[in-house]
Amino acid sequence: MATIIDGKKVSAEVKEKVRLKTAELLKKRVKPGLAVIIVGDDPASRVYVNNKKKACEAVGFLSREYALAATTTQQELLDLVSQLNNDKEINGILCQLPLPNGLDEKAVIEAISPLKDVDAFHAVNVGKIMIGDYDFLPCTPAGVIEMLHSYNITVEGKNCVVIGRSNIVGKPMAMLLLHENGTVTVTHSRTKNLKEVTAQADILVAAIGKAKFVTADMVKDGAVVIDVGMNRDENGKLCGDVDFENVKEKCSAITPVPGGVGPMTIAMLMKNTLKACKIQNNC
Ligand code: NAP
Repeated sequence: MATIIDGKKVSAEVKEKVRLKTAELLKKRVKPGLAVIIVGDDPASRVYVNNKKKACEAVGFLSREYALAATTTQQELLDLVSQLNNDKEINGILCQLPLPNGLDEKAVIEAISPLKDVDAFHAVNVGKIMIGDYDFLPCTPAGVIEMLHSYNITVEGKNCVVIGRSNIVGKPMAMLLLHENGTVTVTHSRTKNLKEVTAQADILVAAIGKAKFVTADMVKDGAVVIDVGMNRDENGKLCGDVDFENVKEKCSAITPVPGGVGPMTIAMLMKNTLKACKIQNNC
């Protein structure tokens, strides 16, 4: 029977450490601040933003939300980012993606000061991660690494296969596994014989966006399976990219959905915001 990797537990531990460090900063009259911009009324984005707000309050951060109408222009959005770049109370800026049609996500990400880019999506931060000299790691892949550490799962020397090559998850995930001395293969929709590649994985990370895509026959006996996916199944229930019920019988450890990678992403956002605050205040 596989170990079920408990993302809620690990994320609570990370947030508690952030809360204690924040309490120390508050004694020095330094309060970390996170600004979250949400444009339009996408229900999933609304849930994520509310969760981020709650997490900020729980760890003692200042939390500011900017809820903009879907009709907001590119210039209005860039003006807000510029204002927040210069706001001393704000250490981290996050623009909830996806943006409504007509708004240029890339331009918005590049407008955020790299020092306040707590998602680590800015090209400067992406480049820093590539050379292994970074301030922030992207929250979801960093959360995966944190969970592996927490369960004493070593990456060094292991065959790691990542399914998905997005800028937000797949590519940085591969880079972080490489930093951990894994032997990394990145797969995607054009990969030939995917099943043969994934069946070689000691650590398999699924970041595809297709419900229950990874079936038991794609997984090696005793593998560690990390499910980044967040999808709805045929009954509208939240599920991952992995066929959890069948794969869990075959692997040594697995993350559930919900309760796996999802909570880690927010915990790592808190960690990045604290770090941004410390860097900006030299403390
Ligand atoms: P994305 O940008 O749509 O990327 C999906 C990747 O999967 C692409 O690289 C795509 O390949 C690949 N793919 C699609 N079909 C495939 C197939 N049949 N075989 C192999 N690869 C295939 O998605 P994303 O932003 O990375 O997100 C992936 C999933 O993670 C989604 O369910 C998302 O909701 C979830 N997510 C969760 C969190 C969290 O906090 N838990 C955070 C972010 C994302 P191509 O590049 O060739 O198209």
